[in-house]
Amino acid sequence: MLDHLAFRDPEAKVIHGATGPWELVIGLEVHAQVASNAKLFSGASTLFGAEPNSNVAFVDAAMPGMLPVINEFCVAQAVRTGLGLKAEINLRSAFDRKNYFYPDLPQGYQISQLYHPIVGEGEIFVDMGPGVARRVRVERIHLEQDAGKSIHDMDPNMSFVDLNRTGVALMEIVSRPDIRGPEEAAAYVAKLRQILRYLGTCDGNMQNGNLRADVNVSVCRPGDYERYQATQDFSHLGTRCEIKNMNSMRFIQQAIEYEARRQIALLEDGGKVVQETRLYDPDKGETRSMRSKEEAHDYRYFPCPDLLPLEIEQTWVDGIAATMPELPDAKVARFVRDWGLSEYDAAVLTAEAENAAFFEAVATRRDGKMAANWVINELFGRLNKQGLGIAASPISAAQLGGVLDLISSGEISGKMAKDLFEIVWTTGGDPAAIAAERGMKQVTDSGEIEKVVDAMIAANPAQVEKARANPKLAGWFTGQVLKATGGKANPATVTALVTQKLGL
Ligand code: ADP
Ligand code: MG
Repeated sequence: MLDHLAFRDPEAKVIHGATGPWELVIGLEVHAQVASNAKLFSGASTLFGAEPNSNVAFVDAAMPGMLPVINEFCVAQAVRTGLGLKAEINLRSAFDRKNYFYPDLPQGYQISQLYHPIVGEGEIFVDMGPGVARRVRVERIHLEQDAGKSIHDMDPNMSFVDLNRTGVALMEIVSRPDIRGPEEAAAYVAKLRQILRYLGTCDGNMQNGNLRADVNVSVCRPGDYERYQATQDFSHLGTRCEIKNMNSMRFIQQAIEYEARRQIALLEDGGKVVQETRLYDPDKGETRSMRSKEEAHDYRYFPCPDLLPLEIEQTWVDGIAATMPELPDAKVARFVRDWGLSEYDAAVLTAEAENAAFFEAVATRRDGKMAANWVINELFGRLNKQGLGIAASPISAAQLGGVLDLISSGEISGKMAKDLFEIVWTTGGDPAAIAAERGMKQVTDSGEIEKVVDAMIAANPAQVEKARANPKLAGWFTGQVLKATGGKANPATVTALVTQKLGL
């Protein structure tokens, strides 16, 4: 059904169908678990992987007469997230009941914020390569409770319910339909995740389901999206389908790609896209209908009578604003400006706040570019190979800085530095002391090197002839001298002497 769609050019954001080009329009609803030790309306623990049903307060289990009590810390986390996305903070918000029946939802409703969310309009700049950022508008962030977990695969005859997750605070972060392709959707989630991790408001662990996305996809003809942007009138856009509960960047991309092609094929065959909720099957690589709009739940939202509207003070918000960390975009700009790095290197170094802090500790009072090269190539390379995070690095920023100091002072060569890095990595210790102990010292005394160069030239007259005829071959002498001095001679000094002595 789909093979008549030849290709999609990621740059042009266009899928070429049988009847002409189509464009993608995507909006994401991301559920981010609030980083908090306690739940949204109870003091029960949020610890992942605890014994089933061990972290359940009476109110989580919906025992009669139990009342929810708002967790101030979770509210602060949502506000902090809003500030991080440069969003409007609503000093007055309110909770609503979203009613539906499900075994892992003992209350029979989820407490959410439909009509008055705590955070309004914000924005995220999505990185699409060095120096290329696309602005995606965030429509709102609201606070809500997570549901529990039904377990159907433990017993052939019974299902089990684990209520540990019931009532855990979620932030639902809703984007405008400003995302234009699968790569951009994945990059949006990656950027959002990075910002949340910088803020410390969600750990971003997608495997545990702490960050998951509902992906809305529609297709339209070139020009329609611009018409929507100009008027904010959704009728210019195609009918969307929503793919539920995606917790992998790769699957998000695959699902969008498939779903867009499915809709195009349908439209080109004269059919219509029906608004519905779909699920992505990664094994088959396709989306399938979960429920249509007609089957959509009527949630019968109404204001939760157990909770007063949530009123917060501007001074309290200001207090949170005063503790905001430097966020990724600002950090990248500063790294480029202050350390003289490329955007690419700055982006690599700032992927995680801890990595950036490590780099700055190494770079301080040293050459920024040199520090960046060593941190990215040697340190990150080595950490990745062993599957370690920066916190588990066997070599500290001070130790790596020590190695760099020995290079800068000319005491050791780059090659020696790599050996020294290896030794410090495995055995620890002070780089300068290790270098001294092992006699790692390059000869920079040109008198000493000169003797070796002279001897080498005297012993190889044929090679001298060749080099004089073709100066490119002078490198042979440099190599020989470095070898003869056991790699201790400074390569720059050797090259200069060889060039001079051969009269090149
Ligand atoms: P609902 O609450 O019914 O899911 P919303 O209007 O809140 O509907 O939209 C949910 C998500 O769908 C938002 O992220 C929004 O950007 C996205 N969306 C809305 N219309 C479209 C469309 N035509 N194509 C793609 N995404 C869309
Ligand atoms: Mg939705």
